[in-house]
Amino acid sequence: MIPEINAAIQSAKVLKDIINAHKELRSYNDLSSAAAEINSKLIDTQHLVLSYQASHKALTDRIAKLEEKLSSKEKFNREISRYKLHKLKSGMFVYIIKPEHEKIGEPHYICTDCASNGHISLFQPVLNGARLVCDSCKKNVITGSRDR
Ligand SMILES: [Zn+2]
Repeated sequence: MIPEINAAIQSAKVLKDIINAHKELRSYNDLSSAAAEINSKLIDTQHLVLSYQASHKALTDRIAKLEEKLSSKEKFNREISRYKLHKLKSGMFVYIIKPEHEKIGEPHYICTDCASNGHISLFQPVLNGARLVCDSCKKNVITGSRDR
């Protein structure tokens, strides 16, 4: 696309040279034909600029989406680093909050399926803690104990 822009600039220079060398101007037709050529090149260039603008807009939008994706990925990585894999008495695996990140209250668990899909979802204990159910995907995990 750059060669077309250069061609338009070159044509403008040619027209300037023709006008400057007025003595060598053979006829009005020469000037008219040079002007028509420049006009055509400028129209081509205008189309190119519009096309550049469209692709620039598409790229800018894509960058914004990627930045958003990266930001949520970073947030997820920060969040998941507060958990570790934990084997329940039943032999099933869940993520459990690391002791250093436990706040007041009991340790809690998050869903491994949801975590592998990039989001954090809490398990809720049901049946006196005999099972855990994911808030999001409803995955049901047997704890193997009543007190987890
Ligand atoms: Zn889940």
